[in-house]
Amino acid sequence: MMDQKELAKKIKMIIMDVDGTLSDGRFFMMPNGQSIKSFDVKDGTGVIFARLAGIKTAIITGKTSKQVKKRAEELQVDEYYEGVYNKTIPFFELLKKYGLEKEEVAYIGDDIGDAEVMGMVGFAAAVGDAHPLIKRVSHYIAKRYGGRGAVREVIDFILDVQEQWTTIFAELKKSSDWEEIFKEINS
Ligand SMILES: [Mg+2]
Repeated sequence: MMDQKELAKKIKMIIMDVDGTLSDGRFFMMPNGQSIKSFDVKDGTGVIFARLAGIKTAIITGKTSKQVKKRAEELQVDEYYEGVYNKTIPFFELLKKYGLEKEEVAYIGDDIGDAEVMGMVGFAAAVGDAHPLIKRVSHYIAKRYGGRGAVREVIDFILDVQEQWTTIFAELKKSSDWEEIFKEINS
């Protein structure tokens, strides 16, 4: 297997699963039928940093949820797909739309529904509490768990090997969204 740092260097897009990856997988069922999930602010900051580094971001989730969609908008994720049964379909759409090779895409996931697309991407990353099968197909296994900073850990790894921090801080300074970003980082 190629060195994980060499693989991470090529990444131009990061795709993320939601349940168990951006969230811890738990949801609270409300009497009115709605459900509540929680997200980690550190993960959100990571998504913002990836964008500032010029890396595209996408969410592909099997479920549909107004809350998740709102969170995706808040973080200015480039592409959002919900209610997806076969995740390879939006994956190929994204490759075509952005003119990317499979090797230029990272995917962060936690469970069997992610396995097929994770077997195709250049950099497959599992959250720390991912299913063992998912860990087996991954180039990187996060120490942190889904919804508890795993996404941030993976994004930091990619940004580190790409030496993106100077760019990110320069972008942060000149960003007109500075106040929004600052709120996210400091909340
Ligand atoms: Mg999941």
